[in-house]
Amino acid sequence: MLKKVCPNCGKPSYSASEFGLWICPHCETSLRYIPAEPAEKNDDIAECFWCGGRMARFKDGWAVCSDCGWRYKGKESEVEEE
Ligand SMILES: [Zn+2]
Ligand SMILES: [Zn+2]
Repeated sequence: MLKKVCPNCGKPSYSASEFGLWICPHCETSLRYIPAEPAEKNDDIAECFWCGGRMARFKDGWAVCSDCGWRYKGKESEVEEE
């Protein structure tokens, strides 16, 4: 997973690939020529990569976008017990 920080709005966006178009989901600035950095494994995803919608968290570790339904599983090894 790669991460770029938008120079226009300062928000991070994430992608599986550095190649191809990379548009900031928040302000639609092209991030194509911004250097990518590896995303931290434990980066907390609060916003959907694709539409910037709110990610809803579930106990089993999945986060699901409330807008487009995109599912993401972070922190696989350290799921919190409640
Ligand atoms: Zn932006
Ligand atoms: Zn979404």
